[in-house]
Amino acid sequence: MERRPIIIIGSGPAGSASALELQRLNPELAGEVLVLEKAHHPRPKVCAGGLIPHSLDCLRQLDVPLSVPNVLAHRARVDVPGRTVEYEGHELCRVVRRDEFDASLVAVCRARGVEVREDEKVTALVREGDGVRVESERGSYHARVVVGADGSGSMVRRELVPAGRECVGKAIMTDVPQDRIDWSGHRAERYDFSFTAVPAGLRGYVWAFPCLIAGRPHANIGVYSVQAAGSGALLYRLLKEELDRLGASGDWPIKSFPIRWYGRSVRIAAPHVLLAGDAAGVDALMGEGISYALEYGRRAAARAANALATSDFSFAAYERDVADSWLGKKLRRLEMSSRLFYGWSSPLWFAIAAKSPRAQEIGIRWYNGVDGWDRRSGWAALAAWWRGTVKATPAQSSVTSKP
Ligand SMILES: Cc1cc2nc3c(=O)[nH]c(=O)nc-3n(C[C@H](O)[C@H](O)[C@H](O)COP(=O)(O)OP(=O)(O)OC[C@H]3O[C@@H](n4cnc5c(N)ncnc54)[C@H](O)[C@@H]3O)c2cc1C
Repeated sequence: MERRPIIIIGSGPAGSASALELQRLNPELAGEVLVLEKAHHPRPKVCAGGLIPHSLDCLRQLDVPLSVPNVLAHRARVDVPGRTVEYEGHELCRVVRRDEFDASLVAVCRARGVEVREDEKVTALVREGDGVRVESERGSYHARVVVGADGSGSMVRRELVPAGRECVGKAIMTDVPQDRIDWSGHRAERYDFSFTAVPAGLRGYVWAFPCLIAGRPHANIGVYSVQAAGSGALLYRLLKEELDRLGASGDWPIKSFPIRWYGRSVRIAAPHVLLAGDAAGVDALMGEGISYALEYGRRAAARAANALATSDFSFAAYERDVADSWLGKKLRRLEMSSRLFYGWSSPLWFAIAAKSPRAQEIGIRWYNGVDGWDRRSGWAALAAWWRGTVKATPAQSSVTSKP
């Protein structure tokens, strides 16, 4: 049996960020950390690939350049019941392809001395002695710390973390070449969100993102629901309708994947075990998860390094850390927003959001984590809105009412 102080299971953004932060905190640890990945990079990942500004900040903090092809979106078109809001502002998003992006992060891990073993699926996990026994298709290991960065279906979570509240959403998507769809998003450097199906029962939205696949412009079209259970038929119907609307009807391969989100009473740690990324839970409102995967990874790494230094592997402090930090607060606010925007009071909240350019500006900065807005209190945001200290210029936002 091979003994390692830390084994990270999964090499998506959460796993790579955990490894990179461990290396940053203690370069000597890099050679002792092992990452186990069941797939082989570049591996496919069902994801629209939108990196909000906070994801880019996390990459900067990890000293990782964005080295893969990406498409900038600095405009947004948001349809809410009865209105369309056009927004133009700072950089809203960079859209990458996840196979390329995740492979680039793994390459940086390796370049910094972290061992990543691919094609090695973890098949069993048992708490044993002063750590966890990890069985994979290729070997047997013992780790003092296991970081579960194995995505929304996390085996680490199922096997080693006490059951908490189950919070699972779902998203489906397809990619259509730009020359087969009547959509201006690419040319306009814009992404589109539509919440118009909320009154019809969708607890989520439809999106269109510009992206590049093998250098060729495509539209990534998808539908998200905060509630996975029972949403399948509605998601598929709405995606088909959106493709028809955009003149892209046809047999485009549709892929679907669950998104686990964070909320109150969600468990993310146990003795010798830390969860990160989708395994822990991300944004309930929009299903955005890459920035959170990177954030969790950095925090899990700090806790793991601290545990090795202090021999305290209880990790109760990690749950508190996340819950009490701006990260936990932001994720809980996103959960609350999902209840407001997708629940019975949604007409009120959409009307407020669509009517006030100031509220839009503050909301977008908060959501994207621009200038530390997501670390400010709700009162600070309200005060800024009331006093008008955050201004949206007329070019930034315009609203069209629909009959
Ligand atoms: C349709 C869709 C669209 C999305 N669009 C966006 C978006 O535009 N922007 C955004 O920020 N987020 C988006 N998300 C969410 C985002 O994809 C996730 O939040 C993000 O991938 C989480 O990263 P992660 O590292 O936690 O998990 P993952 O990226 O899922 O990585 C987990 C890794 O663990 C490996 N693994 C799993 N089990 C094992 C095992 N037993 N042994 C070894 N390895 C294992 C997997 O192979 C995988 O490589 C979208 C999700 C979906 C479904």
